[in-house]
Amino acid sequence: MLNDDVSSGGGEPPSPPSFESLKEFRSAGRGPWAQVADSDWNDWRWQIRHRITTLEQLERMLPALTPEERAGTVLVDAKLSMGITPYFFNLIDRSDPLCPVRRQVVPRLEETDTAPWELTDPCGEDRHSPVPGLVHRYPDRVLFLVTDRCASYCRYCTRSRLVSNATGYDFHPDFERQLDYIAGTPQVRDVLLSGGDPLLFSDDKLEHLLSRLRAIPHVEFLRIGTRIPIFLPQRITPDLCGMLRRFHPVFVSIHSNHPRELTLEAREALGRLADAGIPLGNQSVLLRGINDSLEIMRAHVQKLLLCRVRPYYLYQCDLIAGSAHFRTSVQKGLEIIEGLRGYTTGYAVPTFAIDAPGGGGKVPVSPDYVLSRNAERVVIRNYEGKIFEYPEALDCTAPCRAGRGAQPDWD
Ligand code: SF4
Repeated sequence: MLNDDVSSGGGEPPSPPSFESLKEFRSAGRGPWAQVADSDWNDWRWQIRHRITTLEQLERMLPALTPEERAGTVLVDAKLSMGITPYFFNLIDRSDPLCPVRRQVVPRLEETDTAPWELTDPCGEDRHSPVPGLVHRYPDRVLFLVTDRCASYCRYCTRSRLVSNATGYDFHPDFERQLDYIAGTPQVRDVLLSGGDPLLFSDDKLEHLLSRLRAIPHVEFLRIGTRIPIFLPQRITPDLCGMLRRFHPVFVSIHSNHPRELTLEAREALGRLADAGIPLGNQSVLLRGINDSLEIMRAHVQKLLLCRVRPYYLYQCDLIAGSAHFRTSVQKGLEIIEGLRGYTTGYAVPTFAIDAPGGGGKVPVSPDYVLSRNAERVVIRNYEGKIFEYPEALDCTAPCRAGRGAQPDWD
């Protein structure tokens, strides 16, 4: 079984996290692809061609498939296809139906249950789309959904209405209209490429897309949202990184949920992006039974920093149809943030946020560190629960003139 690097959180000094290589795992004969040549295994196109997409393949690879997984795989295909790269599949503990990697990508029957408050477009993206595939919700930035393909499919995907059911790796059919909208909207200074996964495009296609965007004078800042370094680190080639660095400033947001996903291969891929001068952030989704514990999240965020990735957001799971089995309480997320803040490096603490149902945008939610405030003072508590007061918006000149110094009367 692969090391999941979760320390006990007790009084003992934690052992340094390890980054197991899946290549070694495979060459030790422990994975189903033990006989595959390295040249194939390290070829991202080979990985895409050999994804697990059918029940028959899954039964062969996972002999202990549960009835819920079997039924889920048969029933959910029309909603969100199954697709798992061999690389990511090797992270699954095949003897454990509750394996946190397995639960993210193997369908389950529960996906067919829809609660009354669940939605097919939980973040209201479609109603903020002036052109199909382009979401303009915030004043100065747009979300550009450039493809509907991903390397593997997350069972809780917010965009399951859009991804996985297409037939090719081409631009969105409204590509030119999407670009025309950005070019004709001068307030758009920041474009986030997402999908689907933009890094599934060939280097040439991606270069074309980035060149078109860079030709628009008011577009200052480009971001790419991707799960490729986690699902398919082989795609992060030196050529890709060399091409991306010509379009700076380019930021990349990855999506990783559990420390086990941060293998040696993932760390090396992320290192190549960082060496190309690309600032890296991570977005996690809080998922029941997968990462909804302080110990796991602490191990995860600390390991992300070792991969040169800043934990950026922790999202409450969106109200996507069929996701109730993944959802935790909001309170759980607040407890995790409270357990991180002050107890580990500030850079490691993400912003916990809820994407407001129906299209309100991301709303940060935080433990209450401000206990009270009025015109004169703010009462705050620190991470240990100690209480402090801070003077609010003092006019220093008034007490100085009165000869009392700048220090206010407190009582
Ligand atoms: S990688 Fe992102 S867009 Fe693709 S299935 Fe996962 S959550 Fe959805």
